[in-house]
Amino acid sequence: MREEDMHAGDSSAETIRVLNPATGDLVGEVPAGGTAAVAAAVDAAETALAGWAKRDPRQRGKILGEGARIIRTQTDALAALLTAEQGKPLHEARNEILGCANVLEYYHSVSGSIRGECMPLSSYGLAYVLKEPVGVCGAIIPWNMPVLIFAWKVCPALVAGNSIVVKPASSTPLTTLRIAGMMEAAGLPQGVLQVVAGSGETAGAALAATPSLGHLSFTGDTKTGVAVSRAVGHTGVPVTLELGGSDAMIVCRDADLHAAAAGAVAGRFYNCGQTCTAVKRVIVDASVKEEFTRVLCEKTAGIVVGDGSRKGVGMGPLNNAPARDGICRMTDACLSGSEGTLLCGGGVPDGAHYEKGFFYEPTVVADLPDDSELLNTEVFGPVLPVISADSLDDAIRIANSTRYGLGASVWTRDIKTAMTASSQLDAGVVWVNQHLRLPPDVPFGGMKASGTGRENGSGAFEPYLRSKTVLVKA
Ligand code: NAD
Repeated sequence: MREEDMHAGDSSAETIRVLNPATGDLVGEVPAGGTAAVAAAVDAAETALAGWAKRDPRQRGKILGEGARIIRTQTDALAALLTAEQGKPLHEARNEILGCANVLEYYHSVSGSIRGECMPLSSYGLAYVLKEPVGVCGAIIPWNMPVLIFAWKVCPALVAGNSIVVKPASSTPLTTLRIAGMMEAAGLPQGVLQVVAGSGETAGAALAATPSLGHLSFTGDTKTGVAVSRAVGHTGVPVTLELGGSDAMIVCRDADLHAAAAGAVAGRFYNCGQTCTAVKRVIVDASVKEEFTRVLCEKTAGIVVGDGSRKGVGMGPLNNAPARDGICRMTDACLSGSEGTLLCGGGVPDGAHYEKGFFYEPTVVADLPDDSELLNTEVFGPVLPVISADSLDDAIRIANSTRYGLGASVWTRDIKTAMTASSQLDAGVVWVNQHLRLPPDVPFGGMKASGTGRENGSGAFEPYLRSKTVLVKA
């Protein structure tokens, strides 16, 4: 499905009409950029680059710190806007806005760590290594965590002295644009940060095909990642790909089952299941499956679904029609073919206030066959399959059986079990007795079809810097 089709009848060649996924109401309208807008943004970013690159990294970091301060003063307004365009409940939107401010502050705090090396090398003289910005960078961002992922990409690029052109998803450009404005108000020189709203097929493809970029960072679906990878294959632009996942959560027989069930509910249904590292499969030791599943279903049934702007709502709608329709199709196909057992949810909720939005019930299914689509593709919505395993080895085998390798978690009271599972799971991040939360201090990224490269952590600046070695002889 093309992105324009998400809002069929609501977008034109010139504008993007952003609709509230809970109500269908118009939230805002922004110009739709295409190839020409991307080229103009890259030119402007190129012009702004020289002055910005010359500044001290600490000065650049300080501007991010001030940006965070401004964002924090506007948290409620930004959260309301994010809920309106993305659909997540207000408390989750607040978390994301504060998470974004936290990332800006983190990069402010580590901005002084960008430095080269100096080596006296006797007969060669003095050698030093300069770390230079790579130039104009590109960032392509999905709609599930638009503001947090924006910060993950923009902050290291800017602190390293680059300028950057950002392409948000066309269903969620508004909060990003507002935050970019706040960063300019904080002192970011004009042109250094450019946001071009537009569809993936036009603006996204144009940015991915721009040969002058110093680096491109893409987050999105694995299929789109392959298209982006092909595009940069023609230009030679270095790329980071943060792609889809099918995270397994392994519940061992000695786990705290109540904590694990709460972790599964939060890990799966946060953001209506639309998180790359959401718990997408629970693999539970057969000896505790019944008890675990009972608690899981009790907690799942207690989630209040509704318009995220309303008090007490625990889960909002999916962000767009194709996302909701995909979940309906996949779940219906699996269950109508009597592939599995529906334990909870399983459809669009009844009621007039659900009619205009892209709602789906929090759903738990079990007894799916190994080749079920629900187990082998990324399910980007509120459906959680429970799988039974005979042993830890069996659980790890099942966890590693998909083409994805983004995240995974193991729930146990035994440190040896935790260490064994952590070393054997094919995943870029492994949690023990938790799932989902990620501070900017740690590197994040996937293995296998979940991507290549890492964001955040101690290596965050690497893609955004190039080394120059200078050998000096007196
Ligand atoms: P998507 O791939 O459809 O879109 C992502 C971005 O790419 C959007 O801005 C879109 O406009 C753009 N795009 C679409 N086609 C393009 C093209 N041909 N060339 C260049 N850009 C193009 O993904 P989505 O549906 O917005 O997001 C959900 C996906 O993102 C899920 O698979 C999820 O797991 C993944 N994701 C991964 C991470 C991670 O860090 N690994 C984080 C969040 C989301």
